[in-house]
Amino acid sequence: MFNSYLKESIIGRAIYYKKIKVLFYNPMDFCEPKRRVDDRPYGGGPGMVLRPELFLKAFAKIKIPSPGRGKKNKTKVILFSPSGKKFNTAYAKKLVKQKYTDIILISGRYEGIDARMQKILKAEEISIGDYVLTGGELPAMVLIDSISRQIPGVLGKYESLEEERVSSSEVYTRPEVFKYRGKNYKVPKVLLSGNHKKIEEWKKSKGRP
Ligand code: SAM
Repeated sequence: MFNSYLKESIIGRAIYYKKIKVLFYNPMDFCEPKRRVDDRPYGGGPGMVLRPELFLKAFAKIKIPSPGRGKKNKTKVILFSPSGKKFNTAYAKKLVKQKYTDIILISGRYEGIDARMQKILKAEEISIGDYVLTGGELPAMVLIDSISRQIPGVLGKYESLEEERVSSSEVYTRPEVFKYRGKNYKVPKVLLSGNHKKIEEWKKSKGRP
């Protein structure tokens, strides 16, 4: 699920140049022969619950590399849940500012993971939005991408400058007037005005978080 995304573009480059490293641990690999990774929920219900011990076994195998001479490891454990704290850019920036060297992302499936695992690992529950997905893999990719772009050296020079500037979600390039099916679509006048103050104000009004 992850490989095609992590191979490409900025994140692919960050991994290639060792700015970040992503390792995987599959709780299914720790399942005893002829036993299931999930079991019926206490209290009833149709969905199945992932067994906590498999996640704890996978967790115990996590290899945390030394961050280098004179530096200490600082680890954060995140568990994905639709009812967790809402993830945003500020949170991604905070993790980087607080100098976490390792972030462990735990993805659930089915009805989720037995709640005792979260308590044992003291994992912070994080949601990527008010919708329910079938699994925590997409949320993990969202965090990997969003946190990585905050790590110095991951974005190229041009993209980092972009990051620090006032940037808008509405962007235009040539031509100034784009003709499509008999209609003219124009670039907003303010962007052609040369008035930097007004342009900045316009960008702020179209700004992103
Ligand atoms: N029974 C759970 C509930 O009602 O909250 C839903 C489980 S969901 C079908 C399966 C897994 O997908 C969750 O354990 C979580 O890891 C992940 N997941 C689904 N939606 C998510 C979201 N919006 N944010 C973060 N993780 C999510």
